[in-house]
Amino acid sequence: MHFHIMTLFPEMVLEGLCTSIIGRAAEKGCISIEAVNIRDYTLDKHKKVDDYTYGGGAGMLMQAQPVYDCWKALDEKINLRRSIEQKSSKNFSRTKVIYVTPQGEVFHQKKAMELSQEEDLIFLCGHYEGIDERVLEEIVTDYISIGDYVLTGGELPAMVIIDTVSRLVPGVLNNRESTETESHTNGLLEYPQYSRPEIWHEKKVPEVLLSGHHANIEKWRLEKSLERTKERRPDLFATYLKMNSP
Ligand code: SAM
Repeated sequence: MHFHIMTLFPEMVLEGLCTSIIGRAAEKGCISIEAVNIRDYTLDKHKKVDDYTYGGGAGMLMQAQPVYDCWKALDEKINLRRSIEQKSSKNFSRTKVIYVTPQGEVFHQKKAMELSQEEDLIFLCGHYEGIDERVLEEIVTDYISIGDYVLTGGELPAMVIIDTVSRLVPGVLNNRESTETESHTNGLLEYPQYSRPEIWHEKKVPEVLLSGHHANIEKWRLEKSLERTKERRPDLFATYLKMNSP
């Protein structure tokens, strides 16, 4: 899977994503991460990419021209790579362009699963007051928010989404890091977990986990998952009950 990030701060996303599990996955070739500097595409002789907003108001807005030209070059490059890989010049399905914005649908695990099926994803990171609406209308396919609050730029949201989606790409996690029992995969939060030593600060690991009795361990884990979800996320718990009632 190939991630392409359109940003004014390429070093920020590359530094953030090229470490630990995601960095190793990129080294192994399970995923690729490319950051393209929107500023490289401005036609302004002073390399400016933003200007005042029509109608007044505080702050600057990213202009349409550099964003559009950056996307066009990237999209053509992706299509060329696909045609070489598939040895044909047929038309490909349009690459999704995700504008990360507090005005989008709030990101969740189901959306991550859906996005993990794509071959390429383009992320558009805004800055300042955002981006000229006209270019968004032309190139964006999905508007995604990471929560109901406002950050200074789209780089952290793009990194959050890329990290989450990457974990679902085959080969990125090894078997020991399976996502199957994790929070939000089946609509519940994960059960509590323990590692060595057996006793720490006079707190003992629950007996059932030491029993080696697989069925009992599974039963205990489901009970704890239900208990924890009910207590911490009653909204999720209510949905789970609705979906799983006969
Ligand atoms: N003026 C915009 C508004 O009120 O909707 C907010 C602009 S924000 C200061 C600058 C950029 O940060 C946005 O263009 C977007 O790319 C990114 N951003 C900020 N908060 C975000 C969030 N919760 N989710 C995703 N992206 C966000």
